[in-house]
Amino acid sequence: MAKHIALIHAGGTIGMAPTPNGLAPMPGFADLLDQALARCAAPLPRYTLLPLAQPIDSANATPQDWRTLAQEVSTRYQDYDGFVILHGTDTMAFSAAALSFMLQGLRKPVVLTGAQVPLSVPGNDALQNVIDALRAASAGICTEVAICFAGKLLRGNRSTKISASAFDAFDSPNHPPLARFADGELAWNAAALLPSMSVERFTLPEYGKATVLSLRFAPGLPLAALEALLACHPHALILDCYGSGNAPDRDPALQTILKQASDAGAVLLARTQCLHGKAATGAYAAGAALADAGVVSVADLGFEAAYAKMHHLFACGMSPAQVRQAIIEPLAGELSI
Ligand code: ASP
Repeated sequence: MAKHIALIHAGGTIGMAPTPNGLAPMPGFADLLDQALARCAAPLPRYTLLPLAQPIDSANATPQDWRTLAQEVSTRYQDYDGFVILHGTDTMAFSAAALSFMLQGLRKPVVLTGAQVPLSVPGNDALQNVIDALRAASAGICTEVAICFAGKLLRGNRSTKISASAFDAFDSPNHPPLARFADGELAWNAAALLPSMSVERFTLPEYGKATVLSLRFAPGLPLAALEALLACHPHALILDCYGSGNAPDRDPALQTILKQASDAGAVLLARTQCLHGKAATGAYAAGAALADAGVVSVADLGFEAAYAKMHHLFACGMSPAQVRQAIIEPLAGELSI
């Protein structure tokens, strides 16, 4: 039987049109998309377009919006063979990561896509991305949250936006593409896919109660900046460190401040600023001080996945000690161990 895909329109450039104030969500997008897909020569699955009440620019997305998307999928899960979510590119990787944590054990694909140029503008990448996403979601092969963009299907919680303007806007630097479109055909990388689960384990806790902050080290960064962040009493602070998880260690005050925060219950994470490779504090003396201060290094977890995972684990009601343990245990293929 032909596959039936839910096409959820959450917002983003894909469904916008130029206005005097810049791009903004356009009326009539659903009809425009229907007409464009009807002209498509490639075989497409049956789809039903389900616009959210208020499509947004994803720059406005919050953790509560991630949960709304997960709810859209979970409440309609039995009615469709797969899901395509049209989403803004700016925070697509955050939403994809959060969805992968809420919708664990997926046995159907959830594919996010969007565009750099709106469907309403000639020469756009929007139509091809939707076509590819529909085809990937109806292939019956992938059972995870993925991002489909510019002919590539990437693991959602490994993805990051790498270009503000190029059509090839996403990459998953520490995980190979799940599939690529070559000459109009999908070529799957079976070894890169998450194994299909025997039962779904969806968990949709109330999101947004945790305060998750981040700090990127740069030469000469004043300690007062770190102190100001910690004065917000974050549940978690993601430290974007140099290389393999290094931070300056000449001034012992940094270690003291971090240790005090960690002892007081803040979960401190060390990840690498590099696109490729892992943080492993302890490889250098300049990183060992972080480990001594209670900072947990999170291997090759991407920033978006680390941020969404912190929100998820705290939303699940975990204590700081439980979060420190759970952050380094993969939930949905988001990090290598
Ligand atoms: N600002 C837009 C958004 O993320 C950008 C895009 O969709 O490409 O919603």
